[in-house]
Amino acid sequence: MGHLKKYVYPVLILAIFETVAISLWKTKDNLFYLFNFSYIGLSIALGMFLLIQNYKNARRVVQLLVGLYMLVYLGFICRENMQIEGLWYYLFTGVFEAATIHYAVAKIFGPLIFGRGWCGFACWTAMVLDFLPYKTLQEPQKKLGWIRYIAFGISLIFVSALFLAKVGNIERIMFWAFVIGNVLYYAVGIILAFVCKDNRAFCKYICPITVFLKPMSYFSLIRIQCDEEKCVHCGKCKRVCPMEVDVTDNSRKRKNGTECILCMECVKNCPKGAL
Ligand code: SF4
Ligand code: SF4
Ligand code: SF4
Repeated sequence: MGHLKKYVYPVLILAIFETVAISLWKTKDNLFYLFNFSYIGLSIALGMFLLIQNYKNARRVVQLLVGLYMLVYLGFICRENMQIEGLWYYLFTGVFEAATIHYAVAKIFGPLIFGRGWCGFACWTAMVLDFLPYKTLQEPQKKLGWIRYIAFGISLIFVSALFLAKVGNIERIMFWAFVIGNVLYYAVGIILAFVCKDNRAFCKYICPITVFLKPMSYFSLIRIQCDEEKCVHCGKCKRVCPMEVDVTDNSRKRKNGTECILCMECVKNCPKGAL
């Protein structure tokens, strides 16, 4: 039975997503939720299973399966604005669906269980940024994290202004905000990656969603822990970490602890299996 223990996490994740899928399907009487959350849960569980099997592109497979589904199918085809503007829009209209459910599960309450797994395995912005050449830090991080609060404020003001001005056909504006917002995110993310020599610079300095993700992931149930008896302090885990997390420190207050995207690079590269 011991060898099955490693499959606990994929099974746990699948169980969580299926619970959400079935609950929403039944309470909202809409089969879409069963399909949507089952698809995402199965994709993530598949990725975790492949990771356990040491398949080196496991995370990329999930990023593409979930990221493309959300960007192309939900965003462009179903015309749901899944960006932060979409969250404000649905909250203001009082509709608990689409972006509100997505945010509640992936970015607000889900991180209490799986931290920033969204950022490591599912985000369609990072799905593209992770193809760029700067996978590990070439220079120390810059102190630019305050920009995220400005981006957060702008998104809120933009949608509030549309409501206050009683602009007509907001739904259509939200669709175009999604298209233009994504083009902007990709452009800024790619430029910043090359300027900072860091694929994840956009995540560290600009992404407004981290205003939710960081505090919630502080309490995450699933987190990387270090077995101090096995660790030989070689520092390899920190050198391969794209987010500069001090992963050998087990406390919740460890340096950049809320930046961990659960990408598993440290785990894969630890020569002593200490993580
Ligand atoms: S920080 Fe933002 S852009 Fe980066 S992976 Fe997370 S949600 Fe995506
Ligand atoms: S890579 Fe492993 S052994 Fe080396 S410092 Fe990190 S946890 Fe310790
Ligand atoms: S390398 Fe390890 S500590 Fe760094 S982000 Fe990935 S999982 Fe977290």
